[in-house]
Amino acid sequence: MTKVPTTDIDRCVQQVNDLVRAGCELVRIAVPRQADTAAFAQIVQKVSVPLIADIHFSPARAIEAIEGGAAKIRLNPGNIKSRDDIHRIIDAAKSHKTAIRIGVNEASIRDLSKEPVPFEQRVDLMLAEMRQYVQLFEDRGFDQLVLSAKTSDALRTIEVNRRIAAAFHYPLHLGLTHAGLPEDARIPSAVALGTLLAEGIGDTIRVSAAGDPVIETQIAVEILIALGLRRRSRPELIVCPTCGRTEIDVVALAHRVAEALSQVDKPCRIAVMGCVVNGPGEASDADFAICAGKGKAFFYRGGQKIATVPEGEIVLRLLEVLADL
Ligand code: SF4
Repeated sequence: MTKVPTTDIDRCVQQVNDLVRAGCELVRIAVPRQADTAAFAQIVQKVSVPLIADIHFSPARAIEAIEGGAAKIRLNPGNIKSRDDIHRIIDAAKSHKTAIRIGVNEASIRDLSKEPVPFEQRVDLMLAEMRQYVQLFEDRGFDQLVLSAKTSDALRTIEVNRRIAAAFHYPLHLGLTHAGLPEDARIPSAVALGTLLAEGIGDTIRVSAAGDPVIETQIAVEILIALGLRRRSRPELIVCPTCGRTEIDVVALAHRVAEALSQVDKPCRIAVMGCVVNGPGEASDADFAICAGKGKAFFYRGGQKIATVPEGEIVLRLLEVLADL
């Protein structure tokens, strides 16, 4: 999701392009005011990915975004008070072949209830709310739906999405809300989204984290790569955890290698290991391995030793090898 003012069209386009370069395939943009939907329609023309308009309370914004070229709009039907307004949105989406993502989230369940809702009941209530919304759209003959049910808790996100996947046949969008700073969001997002995706549940994902959306995308892509759902396009660096056999500063060497790899644009698996005894075996599935000992390193390619290199020349020689991979 973009995080600059939508009316700042140049910055918004720039951010969409940054996200695409990071691996994003769909970008959501907030359109709270009429000026935003006007800008959204221009941004659609300037970027290469489908855009989703994020609607909060305004049926007018939903219809403007649909007419402005949104591939999909995301709304919580509970925030649109009039049934007629929902019908108008549905009719506009039908005529423009725009998908609609219906979002239900745990916070809105809590807000609807005057009493605190126990954890164990929240998933039931989210499912019941989703059923009502789906019915509303189906009664109007609309089936281009995407469903999403978000919580800020990994286990409840897993549970509610498992149940939605079992109850409905529509595509599912997965995500955790308010996941935190990137360092805090990474693990709960990987657990929740990774568990669901590994079970075949989920069609699109978003990792939510405070700050730069490129980092959100990088985390999401890492989750997909770990599950074998996305191929790596850049080098993968494997580093041994080090142990009592380590004779050099492996972490410092790994940082130098990582910096060198940032200039390399091809998928390959590079290992940095901290000893010349166990390192070669542990790195045997890498395309290239540096097994470093005291003052020198053995280079392995495809499991075969190809050179012995003095410590000070390791990175330089690595770049020569990479150019040849
Ligand atoms: S590669 Fe060598 S130094 Fe690194 S963890 Fe394994 S045994 Fe220890």
